[in-house]
Amino acid sequence: MSLDDHAEELASDLGVDKEEVREDLEKLVSYSVPIEEAKQSLRRKYGGSARGSSTPTAADIGDITAESGSVTVTAKVLSAGERSIQREGELQTIHEGELADATGRMIYTDWEEFGLTAGDTVTIGNAGVREFMGQLQLNLGQSTTVSFEDEDLDVPYEVGAPRALADLNVGDGAVTVHVQVVDCETREVSGREGSPKPIKSGVIADGSTRLQFTDWEANAALEQGASVRIENAHVGEYRGLPQVTLGEHSAVVALDEPVDVREDAPRVPVREAVETGGMIDVEVLGNVLSVRDGSGLIERCPECSRVTQNGQCRSHGEVDGVDDLRVKAILDDGTGAVTVVLDRDLTEAVYGGTLEDALAAAREAMDRGVVSEAIAQRVVGKEYRVRGSLSVDDYGANLDAVAFEENDDDPAARAARFLSGVDA
Ligand SMILES: [Zn+2]
Repeated sequence: MSLDDHAEELASDLGVDKEEVREDLEKLVSYSVPIEEAKQSLRRKYGGSARGSSTPTAADIGDITAESGSVTVTAKVLSAGERSIQREGELQTIHEGELADATGRMIYTDWEEFGLTAGDTVTIGNAGVREFMGQLQLNLGQSTTVSFEDEDLDVPYEVGAPRALADLNVGDGAVTVHVQVVDCETREVSGREGSPKPIKSGVIADGSTRLQFTDWEANAALEQGASVRIENAHVGEYRGLPQVTLGEHSAVVALDEPVDVREDAPRVPVREAVETGGMIDVEVLGNVLSVRDGSGLIERCPECSRVTQNGQCRSHGEVDGVDDLRVKAILDDGTGAVTVVLDRDLTEAVYGGTLEDALAAAREAMDRGVVSEAIAQRVVGKEYRVRGSLSVDDYGANLDAVAFEENDDDPAARAARFLSGVDA
């Protein structure tokens, strides 16, 4: 065996870069360390690293954990697609999709073009396991081997089947969905060469829920009201919410049959909605505990719409603020608390007057605070049904409301529900 062969074997066993191993091996051999001894010490050196245990173990997908290191799996390819990403300033195409065996399913990223196709049964040797956004992922890299099996593996999942939006997770790739476009707008961003480029974004829905989308290719088939099959999309994350992302490798096909959309929002306990990492359309039911600072009459920056503090915008310095109304209310349902944000329309409804009325009241009292005090008097202590988009960031959970309705159930039922903590 040549030094090169030894390096190759070692790199493959350890799941590390061959060049790196070869350099170390050369150095040790040049110090007259016998080759087997040199290999042993390199196994010790790399064996303890995060990249893998010394020998990849054959694993069932259902048994893989973030600590599995490198694994060997035999699985069926459920979906396979490609996506362009920026990596170290270069545009690179990666292959990704989903694999399954009898025990579970798992997403993969292939950096080496192994040529996986949906429906293939493959044995993947020495693939790295990593955790991304709370989801386990198989990484097929330089030291991974792929062999295509003749025998078809039986799995309890359908190859290439459309996924329900509610089942998608951030990080999923090569995803197919059947959806209705419920909201779609086109805008221009600056493209790769700085020239303007149209993109589309909005909301898609199916029978399970709705999600945001962005299409960097502004596909013509994506238009308001259209029912479409989207192939080879990726699930990214945008402003604390999952987002279906389409790129140059994605396809959109109009469907003959309209896709039925779930009209109501799922009612979810606050804690559960927060734990899923955000939901674009959800209903929670809880009691308003307080109205936070920054409610009532506020001023916004005329350039970026951010709320100004003492006439100062965080980005634009001193500006001539534009009056607006909003409410930030703490809502608690017994499982957790969320900050509900009401826009001007919803705020006018709970205030019982327009922005002009609010400005007049503030002038009369010579105190802008009277508006938020009046709002607090109306809402604090009452129970509300709130529908909207719940996002989660470092500061907690925010629910951008599209509907905010006082719950008109009888008080006894409300009290019982509040005491029991959870309303399923
Ligand atoms: Zn500004």
